[in-house]
Amino acid sequence: MSRPTLTVDLSAVAANTRLLASAARGALMAVVKADGFGHGDAGVARTALASGATALGVTSVEEALALRRDGVEAPVLSWLNPVDAPFDEAVRAGVELAVPSPAHLQAIAAAARRTGRPARLHLHVDIGMARDGASPLEWDALCAAARSAELAGDVRVVGVMGHLGWADQPCDPLNRHGRERFLEAVAAARAAGLRPGTRHLAATAATLTAPDTHFELCRVGAGLAGIDPSGTTRLHPALTLTAPVVAVREVPAGTHVGYGRTYATSRRAWLALLPVGYADGIPRAASGSAWVQLRGRRRRVVGAVSMDCVVVEAGEDPVALGETATVFGPGASGEPTTADWARWAGTLEHEIVTGIGPRVARRTLTAPQLAVSA
Ligand SMILES: *Cc1c(COP(=O)(O)O)cnc(C)c1O
Repeated sequence: MSRPTLTVDLSAVAANTRLLASAARGALMAVVKADGFGHGDAGVARTALASGATALGVTSVEEALALRRDGVEAPVLSWLNPVDAPFDEAVRAGVELAVPSPAHLQAIAAAARRTGRPARLHLHVDIGMARDGASPLEWDALCAAARSAELAGDVRVVGVMGHLGWADQPCDPLNRHGRERFLEAVAAARAAGLRPGTRHLAATAATLTAPDTHFELCRVGAGLAGIDPSGTTRLHPALTLTAPVVAVREVPAGTHVGYGRTYATSRRAWLALLPVGYADGIPRAASGSAWVQLRGRRRRVVGAVSMDCVVVEAGEDPVALGETATVFGPGASGEPTTADWARWAGTLEHEIVTGIGPRVARRTLTAPQLAVSA
């Protein structure tokens, strides 16, 4: 492999989807925001739909429209948009929209009137993160406005959604409190005359650990990518990042490596240069802790991670130009994982998998059941 390459194994995504779909009491939505958590949105979408998911979720309308352009016809919900987002196009493309405020509702209802087609809406309630979703103070006004827009024929409220703020700590009492606030919000929507058939609250961690939050639909993203924020379930990582050795040199003991003289070799050693750096998503904060796999062995990344490259100390082995190092993979062959990189960098695995930059080539291994049906 002559270029840095990210290989996406969609059969891992298929296995993760099957596991999550069997855990969910209701239906499963595959969240493919941020390019399918860095795994390729259309590939993850198709794989998940063939493996038990029945709907897709994204943040922006643009992401939803990109799926439509890729030929994905399944229900898609978009939940994080500015008030002047291209709602006309979204309604025309049959994209369902989450509504976090009366201003968004008015913009979407106007788009639906222009389009001549009712918009399918999910009212989004904030249940304790003060982030997206309507604040409790605005909720009743939002429900009343949504009911008026329904009676005018502009919209149909098909769901109510919320998001748990402490999803990685399933036993945290804040989750119980969040669930209660969610149910109160649903009750208020019904009192306003709305009939939201799809209540959805759970993301990956709650799908795996808190069945009383499942209702009609679970929204899972991280789990499809093999990440379990609850730490309870073994899922399948799907990404492998490899990089070629583009330079080698033998250096004496005491040789400083990289910017800032942060590291010096303690003995004569071979150094190998890999052309991936922080612009490619290799976190600089992992400098001093990280290692990669080269010739089947752990080799330390030495000196600071640069924008474009890292240096690996390869011991006494003369490394050849063009050999391939595994920066991370599923871990089955002793290579480091994205969880290792997240630990070294003091961050979440989510940030590693979504951070791989555009210079890295992509290669996708299609899941067998999709190859057959294609
Ligand atoms: C990203 C996201 C999800 C998916 O969460 P995971 O923990 O990655 O499964 C669900 N709902 C909302 C609103 C999100 O933004």
